[in-house]
Amino acid sequence: MKLVLLGAPGAGKGTQAVKIAEKYGIVHISTGDIFRKNLKEGTPVGLKAKAYIDKGQLVPDEVTCEIVAERLKEADCQKGFMLDGFPRNVYQAQALEKMTDIDVVLNIAVDLNKLMARLTGRRVCAACGESYHVSTFTQSKCLKCGGDVIQRADDTEETVGKRLQVYTEQTQPLIDFYQKKGKLQSVDGMAAIDDVFADVVKVLDAVR
Ligand code: ADP
Ligand code: ADP
Ligand code: ZN
Repeated sequence: MKLVLLGAPGAGKGTQAVKIAEKYGIVHISTGDIFRKNLKEGTPVGLKAKAYIDKGQLVPDEVTCEIVAERLKEADCQKGFMLDGFPRNVYQAQALEKMTDIDVVLNIAVDLNKLMARLTGRRVCAACGESYHVSTFTQSKCLKCGGDVIQRADDTEETVGKRLQVYTEQTQPLIDFYQKKGKLQSVDGMAAIDDVFADVVKVLDAVR
């Protein structure tokens, strides 16, 4: 299964991706995670990406598309994969079409007005990427792996505002793009996490 997860920042892509990877055994490829890993390791890609991530802007397409193209060539992607956070604009979607054929694009639909609280309250495991929220989780260690649970530097009110604007201008048009190709499936991302996942499973079981 070759799957793309689409949705605004904070829609729940990462949260659902972890569950999907567990249930279906497919690789989870998050471009945001790849950039953050490079940033931590101080690689040239990380240094280049930092300025954009800090401002809530998209990292340039050439850098991002190259990373994804290389990642998809790896052996673990041959059985299928799930892209989380890519593509984020029409240019990237067209580049992806040249790399591979996607089976389904799963759009996690949310009310954009509710996302500020989700994102400024988000906490993530620095080791495994698990997402938590301060409203329900106040510990400092990850329940899954024991790693440190931290707040992302770009989950501040100012940067979130910018990211939501970038989403509306550049990423939201992809809903239409994939709808026209007959690949789009949507789930209601405002429901509780487990209810969203139940809907996701219905969609994915039908395309598998
Ligand atoms: P994304 O990867 O799309 O940016 P995350 O999966 O990291 O989003 O979720 C953003 C925040 O919202 C996290 O704090 C997460 O725990 C929380 N969250 C995710 N899904 C839901 C949901 N269905 N209802 C309420 N909060 C959610
Ligand atoms: P979110 O939880 O908001 O969906 P991500 O972890 O996917 O955030 O992305 C964090 C940042 O990494 C983005 O604001 C952007 O700067 C950069 N980034 C991630 N994916 C892409 C992409 N496909 N194209 C350009 N920049 C990206
Ligand atoms: Zn963890």
